[in-house]
Amino acid sequence: MAIPSRQLFIDGEWKEPINKNRIPVINPSTEEIIGDIPAATAEDVELAVAAARRALKRNKGADWAAASGAHRAKYLRAIAKRVTERKDEFAKLEAMDCGKPLDEAAWDIDDVAGCFEYYADQAEALDAKQKAPIALPMETFKSHVLRQPIGVVGLISPWNYPLLMATWKVAPALAAGCAAILKPSEMASVTCLELADVCREVGLPPGVLNILSGYGPEAGGPLASHPDVDKVAFTGSTATGSKIMSSAAQLVKPVSLELGGKSPIIIFEDVDLDQAAEWAAFGCFWTNGQICSATSRLLVHENIAAEFLDRLVKWCKNIKIADPFEDGCRLGPVVSKGQYEKVLKFISTAKSEGATILCGGSRPEHLKKGYFIEPTIISDVSTSMQIWKDEVFGPVLCVKTFSSDEEAIELANDTQYGLGAAVLSKNLERCEKVTKALEVGIVWVNCSQPCFCQAPWGGTKRSGFGRELGEWGIENYLNIKQVTEYI
Ligand code: NAD
Repeated sequence: MAIPSRQLFIDGEWKEPINKNRIPVINPSTEEIIGDIPAATAEDVELAVAAARRALKRNKGADWAAASGAHRAKYLRAIAKRVTERKDEFAKLEAMDCGKPLDEAAWDIDDVAGCFEYYADQAEALDAKQKAPIALPMETFKSHVLRQPIGVVGLISPWNYPLLMATWKVAPALAAGCAAILKPSEMASVTCLELADVCREVGLPPGVLNILSGYGPEAGGPLASHPDVDKVAFTGSTATGSKIMSSAAQLVKPVSLELGGKSPIIIFEDVDLDQAAEWAAFGCFWTNGQICSATSRLLVHENIAAEFLDRLVKWCKNIKIADPFEDGCRLGPVVSKGQYEKVLKFISTAKSEGATILCGGSRPEHLKKGYFIEPTIISDVSTSMQIWKDEVFGPVLCVKTFSSDEEAIELANDTQYGLGAAVLSKNLERCEKVTKALEVGIVWVNCSQPCFCQAPWGGTKRSGFGRELGEWGIENYLNIKQVTEYI
């Protein structure tokens, strides 16, 4: 199957980038170039922002922004339906583009369709929330609130869940009545460009969603700093998030930031060891650890540490690492050569700082090509080591033991990040106490990583601010207007 050759999607049409540049697409399982994507620059951003601005008010009486939520919901449902019809194609493209096992990629596409459906419901619910009266202490006045779209929004997304992360922004932004410019990651834009094709197929009004693939500084930078973009929603690294926040600050432009993480998983001594080992492996190695919320710091009670790690290592040795298209593949390659080298460097630095590699640590012997890395567990870690402090974004788990609840909480919070945390214990009172003490935006109790589009997602500290998903997700794209009348 070939990668479709696409152009930028601006004002409802395919447009060649003004400078005609393209970016090669490399299959991380084979290291082969399998196609290319267009590389937008500031001039293309200019066209897309103008198209989005026009789309907000294109037709008198039928503006995207002023239309009812129910009107917009019809388009979101049509997109969901078409994505589902094209699911196999989307899943294969994502497996080729970023190395995800094929069945995992298919689940992600189901989630994409589910997210568009969910925000269709939210768009309809918005109609019912309009003009809700506010109780005032004086009878001579009455007040209500209007929830109106923020306007033109710039959406910048990462490569780890290429279409799903983009959808977490596109679906609520369109549901709210915004017109959007999506800039997916240059490392995995193929399915986002196919989403453009779906928008064309369902007749989404021109300019409501524009999709510009391209490099971060050349396309994302001009989008984030554009004076006619009313809000920027960003998911990516903390370093890039900080740059985006600085450029937005010049124009006092609102931003929401979903950034990196170094999330802990705490295993207390009363757990079922096999079940806990399975959650620990899943929490760190699912999608090759390329998950912002990957529970990549394992804290285990010292009384069970030896037995628990023994079972966890056995579990990891049984994970099938293979080409994403092979039956039973659970772990594909990491996304790129750069990422492959970065992850191996983290492992060698940990070794040189005195840590012990319990399993993994290199390329699996049976795979000679592709950016494959074995699931890696590292012990004898101290809190001053790089492997404890920095996000790897790869299949690497570091381990520390603890002897009391207080020590577990202190170690869990010993990080600049604050995205997720997992707490495993049969004692639910202890889980609740620990949950309250964790400095994070998401806590999983007796599990790790489940994610539902109905529940809020986002972090604290340097993992960012603002919440995506759920009813909170649409609020990101709405202005709250107070209306007070003298009667
Ligand atoms: P990245 O910061 O390198 O890139 C993210 C996006 O920003 C890409 O589209 C990129 O092209 C763009 N970009 C890069 N430089 C830019 C600039 N100067 N101006 C504007 N845009 C720019 O991140 P990545 O490597 O694609 O993704 C991995 C990171 O994303 C990890 O840190 C991970 O934790 C984080 N992430 C967070 C969440 C979350 O929900 N919190 C979800 C997924 C990924």
